[in-house]
Amino acid sequence: MKSYKCEILEKTLNFLPNKVNFCCSYAEGLNVSYVKDKNFNFADIKKNKKKYINQLKFGKIPAGCYGCIDYKEKKYTNILDFFFTKSDTSLIKQIIVNHYKQCDCNCIYCTQRIIWDGDYEQNYELLPIIQDLYEHNAIDKDNLQVEFQGGDVTALNEFESLMRLFMKNGCKCYDIHTNLTKYLPVLEELPFQSLLSIQISLDSGTKETYRKIKQIDALEQVLDNIKMLSIKTNAIINLKYIIIKDVNDNSYEVNQFLELVKELRCVNEVSFDIDYRDIVLYKDKKFEIPSYYYDIVKQAEDFCRENRIMFCLKEYAKMYMEKK
Ligand code: SF4
Ligand code: SF4
Repeated sequence: MKSYKCEILEKTLNFLPNKVNFCCSYAEGLNVSYVKDKNFNFADIKKNKKKYINQLKFGKIPAGCYGCIDYKEKKYTNILDFFFTKSDTSLIKQIIVNHYKQCDCNCIYCTQRIIWDGDYEQNYELLPIIQDLYEHNAIDKDNLQVEFQGGDVTALNEFESLMRLFMKNGCKCYDIHTNLTKYLPVLEELPFQSLLSIQISLDSGTKETYRKIKQIDALEQVLDNIKMLSIKTNAIINLKYIIIKDVNDNSYEVNQFLELVKELRCVNEVSFDIDYRDIVLYKDKKFEIPSYYYDIVKQAEDFCRENRIMFCLKEYAKMYMEKK
């Protein structure tokens, strides 16, 4: 019998606009609670988490996990190992703040907006729920990682109060996905030893292409904000380039993007991805990766090697490009 394990399931709560999931994935995911109706219930969450962990352990893939790449086969040395290895599900170790969709950009590839079309507004405040989780000792304070997705934190009213609540409770690890069209001064309050990672998807190296993709004229503002953040905080700054067919999938644009990376002198990692509408979202529409996508990726990889910047091809893009 095959046995599976999903680490995300064991540690995560992902707060979505009308529900809480155990994970963030393009599979349907496992829904555990409907906060919209104010029936968020941590006891239920624990019960369901155990149920799904056991299903995977006994080789059954829950329906919501079909198509997800995050559950992995788990080998046990013997039958005792299988029965006595317990997963620690008692405390929350990762919180994904994803319950809102407000954003000043309107990216043409925004999967969040496509997925949540029609159920767009933020339905609840997250702050009281997190306060409650802390009060009930449901969070692993020493090991908590917080990831902000969305929407964009620059448009989230609760952002500063959430950050201060996490900081007050000793959280040291933050991963923030943002367009950084506005500066985020609260990040300057983070204690020195905190780990702050900022992911910004620029997807372009020119103002025109940025405007075409994001539908806002803000490239220069974003570059200024990146510089400010690198001066005022210890942020690890990662820039992303999502390759969009017939929009930015050319060597000139990639070169301009890489020139910006060089000028900034504060970028830790450059990552490349492929528009999820092509490879993940519309599964019935088979997308052939054009051969020049490989050249674009190599161009970026070579640049990063020469300039000693980390390079990463995102997991789904890697999987699709390796398939060919
Ligand atoms: S396998 Fe995927 S869909 Fe299932 S719980 Fe893990 S991350 Fe979520
Ligand atoms: S910045 Fe993010 S949330 Fe906003 S439109 Fe773009 S992809 Fe969507």
